[in-house]
Amino acid sequence: MLPPGATLGILGGGQLGRYMAIVAQQRGFRVAVLDPDPDAPAHQVAHERVIAAYDDPAALERLAQLSQAVTTEFENVPASSLAPFLDRNIPVRPGAKALATCQDRIAEKTLVNAAGIETAPWHAVHSDQDLGMALAALGGEGILKTSRSGYDGKGQARVRSLDEARAAFGRFGSVPCVLEGVVPFALECSVLVARDAHGRSHTLPVCENIHSHHILDVTICPARVSEAAARAMRSRSARLAQELEYVGHLAVEFFVLPDQTVVVNELAPRPHNSGHLTIDTALHSQFEQHVRCIAGWNSLPYELLHPAAAMANLLGDLWEHGEPLWDRLAEFPEVRLHLYGKRAPRPGRKMGHLTAWADSVAEAERRVRDAREALTRPG
Ligand code: AMP
Repeated sequence: MLPPGATLGILGGGQLGRYMAIVAQQRGFRVAVLDPDPDAPAHQVAHERVIAAYDDPAALERLAQLSQAVTTEFENVPASSLAPFLDRNIPVRPGAKALATCQDRIAEKTLVNAAGIETAPWHAVHSDQDLGMALAALGGEGILKTSRSGYDGKGQARVRSLDEARAAFGRFGSVPCVLEGVVPFALECSVLVARDAHGRSHTLPVCENIHSHHILDVTICPARVSEAAARAMRSRSARLAQELEYVGHLAVEFFVLPDQTVVVNELAPRPHNSGHLTIDTALHSQFEQHVRCIAGWNSLPYELLHPAAAMANLLGDLWEHGEPLWDRLAEFPEVRLHLYGKRAPRPGRKMGHLTAWADSVAEAERRVRDAREALTRPG
């Protein structure tokens, strides 16, 4: 267990790293951040800033000299970037096994299925020949996804014929892919899991995620699913954290079918966008949980403080016609604004979010949506 005063290293300087840094500092830790952008959200609040690429050997050495434990805010960290820490016996949390598994869809789905947990039907694709067989096995349509480096719908294509599938595979550079069957889901959910180095895990009531253009738009908690489905998702998520020997905060994304059966979509080995509502509405936030676990402290009960909570993302699109109408927030005293300190709003870029709590999910959702609508400057 690292005492306050120790330095936690964070690979990646986005909003997730920023919240980790803020929470760590509240608990008396020092924070060192590695990110190539000098103005990255987490650099703005770090004690020590290492401004360099994630695979720069000298920068990784520097971070290793500064840090007593290290974490990552994104899953696509090259395995070689972890070596300087592992060589010095500096704990990397989540560990190399979890990161290697979660950055490769083939490895991830293999682990999930080996644990006896359902995913969408899928096939690994390494060649045109694999692709033809996979498409036939899935009845002629599916979603082709690159096995590595995809997020927010990038590196994905819905394909309905062999020609479309071949074209997409070619566009992706014929890199290893998975072809998944299309799941006719009723809704999408995520389970947030905090698992500590002693193997104790806690899960938050299930979140329900509503996407727009492949990007998370609104999260509500608890999800509108049956009790049995919620139980199944929470227990499967804790099981997967155990399989991954996971330490830190994990998010497991699910599809819920109309009959309330659940299948795993994918894993995110870090705090998660859907967990942002925990900052204001849970007993302990996902960042609190993550920081505690990476510092070797125990994970804590994961509960909502209110009957219901909601979060709405603020994307760069909100700035399309100029600065959002911040003064309108005065009409929504029960809604809380979060901004990540990013200076360049671009369409689709996550700039911040709103959270709200209420007695029902319908009311919490209405509050964040109404507030976001009020902020929008008319064109
Ligand atoms: P992913 O990056 O894998 O989470 O996919 C992004 C989004 O695409 C998901 O949140 C779903 O809305 C949709 N999607 C992905 N895979 C499937 C699937 N097998 N069936 C139906 N929709 C999917």
